[in-house]
Amino acid sequence: TMAHSKDLLVLENFIGGKFVPCSSYIDSYNPSTGDVYCRVPDSGKEEVEAAVKAAKYAFPSWSSKSPLERSQILNRLADLIEHDLEAFAQAESKDQGKTITFARTVDIPRAVYNFRFFASSILHRTTECTEMATMGCVHYTSRTPVGVAGLISPWNLPLYLLTWKIAPAIACGNTVVAKPSEMTSVTAWMMCKLLEKAGVPPGVVNVVFGTGAKTGEALVCHPDVPLISFTGSTLTAQRITEKSAPHCKRLSLELGGKNPAIIFDDADLTQCIPTTLRSSFANQGEICLCTSRIFVQRGIYSEFLKRFVAEAKKWKVGNPSDPTVDVGALISKEHLEKVRSYVKKARAEGARVLCGEGVDSLVLPGGNQKGYFMLPTVIAEVKDESCCMQEEIFGPVTCVVAFDTEEEVVERANSVKYGLAATVWSSNVGRVHRVAQRLQSGLVWTNCWLVRDLNLPFGGMKASGIGREGGKDSYEFFTEVKTITIKH
Ligand code: NAD
Repeated sequence: TMAHSKDLLVLENFIGGKFVPCSSYIDSYNPSTGDVYCRVPDSGKEEVEAAVKAAKYAFPSWSSKSPLERSQILNRLADLIEHDLEAFAQAESKDQGKTITFARTVDIPRAVYNFRFFASSILHRTTECTEMATMGCVHYTSRTPVGVAGLISPWNLPLYLLTWKIAPAIACGNTVVAKPSEMTSVTAWMMCKLLEKAGVPPGVVNVVFGTGAKTGEALVCHPDVPLISFTGSTLTAQRITEKSAPHCKRLSLELGGKNPAIIFDDADLTQCIPTTLRSSFANQGEICLCTSRIFVQRGIYSEFLKRFVAEAKKWKVGNPSDPTVDVGALISKEHLEKVRSYVKKARAEGARVLCGEGVDSLVLPGGNQKGYFMLPTVIAEVKDESCCMQEEIFGPVTCVVAFDTEEEVVERANSVKYGLAATVWSSNVGRVHRVAQRLQSGLVWTNCWLVRDLNLPFGGMKASGIGREGGKDSYEFFTEVKTITIKH
């Protein structure tokens, strides 16, 4: 099933348990070299139709398996991915541009854990029951899978985010048609090669590759796909909402952010600085949870800035497969240009670019001269109204500004359209609670960042999304609830 032409990887759709070629293909690039890495099916209505048909056909049998049977299959799939962890990490790094270290320690281990987590979680869900003695009635709720779930994921954490949807969807007894980003499709295709061995019956997981406009929209518009779980940009979510409205589909939308870090003058800077560097620049700043507005209380502003910039300059940019590299390549040439344009705008508005883009020189190894690299960039003295403080940049760029009072910083932190994640740094417990309560943000981390318990809700407020994902939340999203009343 693996096809090569001149050493180029050619992916195939996975439909009804079989790899099937497509009539046309699109190129996908290796961001660290600028070369074509593989060819991805350019699927359309026909391919989506076949995948939905296969998923529908597999549904009755899969949905009637016991949770324990499904759990065992999910655990086997987790083991198989873990067994090939290194191959998956290499592919993810090459396809996405992220460092091999990040792929090895974050992306692929989390993909494995997503399956293990839901394999366990599904065994521990209970439904509700209540008595109405005066009426002689007992009420209880029952939950059943919805049917064929459409899953659409972005390019920043490819297998990590795709499996965060596939695992709960199939654990609950749904069958799925998944569409990864056309820019990062390789690890999803590799996962398909393990499904049969794991015992996933044909048609339970189908993957159609292609663009958002063609493949994604065909899935969103398909009348037999009652539910869409989407992670990506706010703009695409608006389009998906419009296109699915005539069918009244159930939607889960995990979108962008413009996440603040609020650093009070009693913060422990020895913890705060390295964590805020990570929260700004990890995965080239291409994580929806990345910090891009840093509010520092006036008393420590200059000290923070000095130390933060000095540390940012130490982040090594270069070949993602070099284990000593901290920052890999951005996803595409277009995206790199977009991220750079924000720095240019900030400069034109009179902000100070303290390090990185346009300030320091970027030295790249020979083979990476055509890659899409950029230095971690810190901007100061930028106005709150500036597009750099309002729009999601999604690259290794962060803005640092000063504030005076708690009241003021909460208001400024909330004055963007997004509301995904925030971090608060202070050693005053009362203050940490007060601020966390008032922030318009689906997640608030205090004195840390990116510490997740998958049991708890994940998702954004305002333009950052609708719905939540997590142990209980994903279970509720991927099942239909029924209330049954029994009278004696
Ligand atoms: P994107 O919206 O461009 O694409 C996401 C996916 O949607 C891709 O698979 C794409 O092909 C598909 N798509 C595009 N147009 C479509 C359409 N009209 N119909 C159906 N599908 C369509 O986003 P991206 O650039 O791939 O990802 C980056 C964005 O994702 C950022 O905004 C980031 O913040 C967000 N993100 C959010 C989370 C979260 O959990 N909240 C996590 C990661 C990334």
